[in-house]
This record gives sequence, structure tokens and C-alpha cells, in this order.
Amino acid sequence: MKKRIGLVLLSTILFVSIISNSMCFVSAESTPVIKNVIFMIPDGGGFALFDFANAVKKEGGFNEGIASDNSTKITANYMHLKNYLIGTETTHSASNSVTDSAAAGTALSSGYKTNNGYIGIDPTGRPNATILETAQLAGKRTGIVSTYHWAHATPAAFTAHNESRNNVAVLAEQIVNQGLDVVLGVGFGSAQWGSIDEAVKRGYTITTSREDLEKVTQGAKIWGNHHKTGFPDDIKLTTEPTLAQMTAAAIRALEGSNKGFFLMVEGSKVDAGGHGNNLVQAVSEYIAFDEAFKVAVDYAKTRNDTIVIAVPDHDTGGLNLPNPDSVGGNPNSSDYAEAVAEVKAGINSKEGISWTTDGHTNRRCGVWMYAPSGIKPPKGLSEVPGNTPENRKLVIDNTEIAPYLADLMGLDLKAATDELFVDVTDFGTFDSSNNTFTFNDYNISIVANQSVATVDGKSVDLDGKVAVYSKGKFYVPKCLVPKKLIGHEMKIKTARYKDQATGRIIVKGKLHRDFAGRPVTLLMYKNDVDSLTENDIGYIDQSVINNDGSYVFTFKFFGNVNDYKLGMYLANQTVTDSITEATASYSWLDTSVLLYKENDSFVSGELLIKNYDIEGLTYCMALAFYDANNKLIQLTLSDMKDIDKDITLDNLKVLMPEGTAMVKAFVWANYTQMIPLCKEDHIIMQ
Ligand SMILES: [Zn+2]
Repeated sequence: MKKRIGLVLLSTILFVSIISNSMCFVSAESTPVIKNVIFMIPDGGGFALFDFANAVKKEGGFNEGIASDNSTKITANYMHLKNYLIGTETTHSASNSVTDSAAAGTALSSGYKTNNGYIGIDPTGRPNATILETAQLAGKRTGIVSTYHWAHATPAAFTAHNESRNNVAVLAEQIVNQGLDVVLGVGFGSAQWGSIDEAVKRGYTITTSREDLEKVTQGAKIWGNHHKTGFPDDIKLTTEPTLAQMTAAAIRALEGSNKGFFLMVEGSKVDAGGHGNNLVQAVSEYIAFDEAFKVAVDYAKTRNDTIVIAVPDHDTGGLNLPNPDSVGGNPNSSDYAEAVAEVKAGINSKEGISWTTDGHTNRRCGVWMYAPSGIKPPKGLSEVPGNTPENRKLVIDNTEIAPYLADLMGLDLKAATDELFVDVTDFGTFDSSNNTFTFNDYNISIVANQSVATVDGKSVDLDGKVAVYSKGKFYVPKCLVPKKLIGHEMKIKTARYKDQATGRIIVKGKLHRDFAGRPVTLLMYKNDVDSLTENDIGYIDQSVINNDGSYVFTFKFFGNVNDYKLGMYLANQTVTDSITEATASYSWLDTSVLLYKENDSFVSGELLIKNYDIEGLTYCMALAFYDANNKLIQLTLSDMKDIDKDITLDNLKVLMPEGTAMVKAFVWANYTQMIPLCKEDHIIMQ
């Protein structure tokens, strides 16, 4: 009968399914001034290419018959960007003085240097929130537009996290699962993950033509499937939309939300022109980008809450113009008029110009910005925009742009990283055969690159927050991590009933009715009956037998009944056999847990009781909600329940009342046990 009885109540919070984006996110305190950001990247568009494209525009663009009817329409005889130059940026990566688009895209999207090839992770492999993800977490609508594949380095650097830009399937899976509102450009043809059907299943309207794009209206969720593998050069466009058309459609789809939007637009193929030392291609792509920039600026000018920033990730090709300035450009086009005339005629000119490389260079690139009045530029750049020699000398680093924009929007990249990427490697196991991470001790698992977890057998949608496996470590959004594991105060008292001082004992029995009126004696004692001392007596009492022969004892008992035996005596004869019920009940406040303090992200959740090993336990639980003055404002009680297996107190899944500053959980345990009966048939009463 004596058995070691232990009870451990372990409570934890699985506050997964019911937390909304905004509740999961702690925003910075400053008032956002800028609601919308349009972040534009002419990939590979260094100053020499910019100046050259400006010269071509100045001369009226391509000659008649060179550009197709569907190529970008030129709307000015200068690069629109020209009026918005505020300075330049350095572009080197953590691993090389010459960056690639992955490291540069990561620097632009997230504000830190990383190794060439890395997407959205730092040199140690840790993923960090991008400005797009930070905006999405804050409830803004988000989109990416490019003239190349949507999972290639530049858009991926805003939306995905992996150690290699070449793991396109991984990047694509993360992007599809992220639930962006707008993805435009090359379709699923060269994606290694996902499909049009998959996009449709996730609520996207698929656009395939220019006409489809024109029909896009405010609030639309669109996925552009505009070419199978890669766009033709802008100058040769037939049915595909121009970058300007895609930008216009993306803005229309994204606008109208009172939280605003973040849009990344890439002119992907300026880079291709540089790599191929193909000036016609580079110039036509740069002009296409410039006209898309105009679309964005025209939109921003109708509002006072929208910023448009354009920044190349790096220079490609290192075009050598005569009389170059410190950034390798030359705004004076008369120095290379012959080459301009040839390019206008569709000839890939080498007249008086040359290329340095078919790769990237570390030349500084331009920073162009349109902002509503009153918005200061990044520190160190010009408050007077324009393509002036002075502005071409001002320098910031490419890592300074994302924090600057985050600040303007009232967002915090670091807080978003804490929210999105908690390193849980030590709290579970990663099975590389199925890409799945499972928490130890919890019924929670998630597949890498997915944004739906399995919690207690049920699917839980994490609202576009994806799990990331990076360089041997696993990261999940904070809202999936059991609270205990992220260091919140969870003082659990181990409850053992024998530690409880007071129990209520009931002893009932029945003898023959002939004994009615006679005294019956109850004795609880330790040790052997022959050597009883006073200290061994736990309880002794007498009662009178009822008319029907029954008797009842009810009393409080101090101590552990397991250390005692119970005997019933009539005169000196044992009548213990007549006992029909002998039980001890204990009731105590077992555990109180601080579940929530102000500024924690806990909203509501579940408590799990497990690891008990006694039978007959029941519990009652309460959640107590306090305001900032520690005043109880709501108390929610559960029913009494029997514990017969791990129990989740899901009946206490309640929302916090208004004004809650602290939540505590209380568990009352109730344990009833049989009292051991003595076997001796004789005892001397003295
Ligand atoms: Zn490149």
C-alpha cells in the first residue's frame, strides 16, 4: 500500500493558434511618418551605365525601329532618377571587396554585411529579419517585382534565408509560404518549388498578360506568371509587361491598406547587360527601370506618406567612360557622343569606351530618393537632391539604408528578428530525412521553409512566418516556441501530497445492530502495536455506534497518512474489518505561475498538466488577470477535473480582458487516498 507518490505539475503555454500578426509584434515607440516604401534596385546599375543611359535619353532614346512597340515608353529626355540623387553607397560584402547580388541584396534589405552567396543570413548563418518581413510583421502589405525569376538573389534577399543563392528550391518554398501580396515577373517556369496551382490554392489571382495587369485593383493578391523562364530585353518586349507596367499594377494592388505597404522593385537585367558587356541591353534595361521609378514617384507625389528609394546593389561590367569621376561615371555626354549615337541605333558600341570586366566591380553606386517634404535623408547624404558633383561625392554604406527606412516607418529590424527567428536547435531534434524539427517534451513540429506547424496533431498557420534551417541550426518564429523555452518566469512548485500538512479523513463502517449505543474506538498509529509510544499515536477518538450498527468518524489529520495504520476497536477487540470506507483527502494550492507580464507577447493559451504519477488527483485551475495596479480584474475558473493522463486545460483558453498587465495561473490540486488498515487483531488500550 505504501507507495511513493509524486506529482509534478508542469505547465506551459502553447500560445500558437490565436495570436495575430500585430499582437505577436512589438513595434517601436516612435510615431511612423512614412507608411509606404517603394524600394527599387537597378541590378548592376553603376554610375557609368546611368550616365550613359541618361545620354541616350537626352538624345531622344533609341532610334525609330530599334525598340519594339511594346518596349518601355520614354517620357522625358533625361533619366528621371537624375533629379533625385542624394549621394552614393559603398557595396563591398563581408567576404569580398566586390559583392554579389546575394550579399548586396541582404545588406540593402537587412542592414548588415554578409558573405557573397548568402541570402538573408549573417556570416555565422543566423537569419535576420529583412525590412520587407519587418513591414509584413507590422501588418503592411508586401510585394516583389522583378524582370527575372522571383526566387533569384535580389528578391530572395528581401524574402528568404539560406546559405546559398543557388538553393533556389529552398528560397522559392520560403517565398511561396511567406504569403506576400504581390509577386510579379517571371512565373513558375524556372521555379524549383511551387506551381501556378499552388499559388491559386493560396488565394493568388494569376496574371499572365498586360491586360490582366491593367485590371488589377486595390487589395488584389496577385502572382504574375508573365514568362516561363526569363523576360526578353525591354527593347524586344512583345507580350510581356514592362517594369513600369508591373510597378503600376503592384502599387495599385498594394495600396489602400491603412497600415501601408512595402514594395521591392528590381530592374534585374541591367546586370545582364553589364555581364555581357552589352551596352544596348544595359541601357534599355536602365531606361525601363527609370520609367518604373517615375511611376513610383508619380504615385508617391500624390501622397505625403510614401518614400521611393532607388539603389543599385553593385556596378556590373565597370564601363569605362572618358574622363571618369570618382564613381567611374561622366555626366558630360559630349565626351562619348559617338558611342551614344551607335547605341541609339542598336549597335553595341565600343567607340571611345571599354569594359573592365564581365563581372561586378566595387565602384560606388547612386542613392536616389523621393520623400515627402520634412523627411531628412540618411545621415551623410544630401538634403538637396540632384545629379551634382557634390552629391556624387557623398557616401554612406549599403547597410545604412534598411535601418533608415525602418526608422521612418517606425519599425525595428532587431525586434522583428527576435520575433521571427528564435534559435531552437537545443530544444528539439531536426530530422534531415523529412526536413522536420520536433520540440523535445512538446507535441510541436514544423518542416523547414514552411509556415504551418503541427501542434498537438493540429495544423497551425503561422501567418507567413517560415521556419528556417541554416548551417546546422533551426529557427522558428517566437510564437511557436513554448514559453518556458524562451526564458519567461515559470516557477513551478512540485506538489507532493505528503508535504501537505492537513487532510480531511472520513472513516465509515458498520457492525451488527446489537452493538448500538456502545463506544467504538478509532486509532491511527505508527510502528508496531506492541511498542506504541505516545509519539506513535497520530489520532485517537471514540464514537457511539448508531441504532443500525453504523459509525462515522470525520476529522482533520496532520501528517502523512501513509506513515500510519488505522484500526477500529470495540472494547479491546479489533473490529477493523467492519470499516467500509477510510479515506484521506488533501486539497492545496499547488502551483501559481506568472504567465504574462506587460510587454510579453502572450495573449492567451493553454496550460498543460503532465508528469504526475498518482491516481485519484483532481485539479481546479484559475487564470487571474490583473491591471497595472495589481488589481484583480477577472478570474476565470475551470471545472474540477480528474487527472488520468496528460491534460491540457484548453477550457481556459480565454482572451485577456482590456487593461490586463499581468496574468497568473493557479492550480488547486485535490487528492484522495485510501488509508492503510491495521492487520493486528488485538491491541491493549491503556
Ligand atoms: Zn550580376
